[in-house]
Amino acid sequence: MDSGYVTFSDKKGIFYIRINLDVLSKLHSFRQIEGFMPESGGVLIGEVYGNNGFWIKDVTSPFKNDISDRYRFVRQDPAHQKVVQNWHQKSNGTMQYLGEWHSHPEKKPSPSLIDLCSWKKLSLNMKSQMGGQPFLLIILSMIDLKKDWVAIYDGKNNYTKLEVDLI
Ligand SMILES: [Zn+2]
Repeated sequence: MDSGYVTFSDKKGIFYIRINLDVLSKLHSFRQIEGFMPESGGVLIGEVYGNNGFWIKDVTSPFKNDISDRYRFVRQDPAHQKVVQNWHQKSNGTMQYLGEWHSHPEKKPSPSLIDLCSWKKLSLNMKSQMGGQPFLLIILSMIDLKKDWVAIYDGKNNYTKLEVDLI
C-alpha cells in the first residue's frame, strides 16, 4: 500500500516531512507551467510523529466553490474539511489535517503578504483544534520539488524552511 516517499528536512535537522510519491505526482499536475493555468490549492493530510515529524499521505485539490485564478487561490469550499473528517474516522484518528498547499506562477516561489496574513488568521482560528501543533505550508513552483517553498509555521511569526533531501 505504501508507495514510497520523499523526505524534506531543515538545515538544523530538527524537523522532517515525508510526502508520498503519489501525493507528489498529484501536486505536480497543478504546477502552473502554462500561462493559462490558475492557482490551485488544498489541504495537507497525514500523520504526526512526535513534535518534529510529519508524513503527508493525501492532499485535497480545488473544489467547485473555491476561488481559483491566475494570481489567487482562496480555499472556501467545505468539501476540504469533509475529506479530512473522512480520513480521520477511517484511520481511527491517526490521519489528520496538517496544513495548506497552493501553487504560484513563479519559478522560485515565496509567500505573498496575503499568504502570510491568511496563515496567521488560519492559525488563530485553528488554535483550539490543533492544540498548538505547527502547520505545514507548501507553495508549488512552476518547476519541481527542489524549487518548491516548504515550511513549518509555529502559528506566531516563525517559519522554518525545509529542503528536499538529495537522493
Ligand atoms: Zn500564495
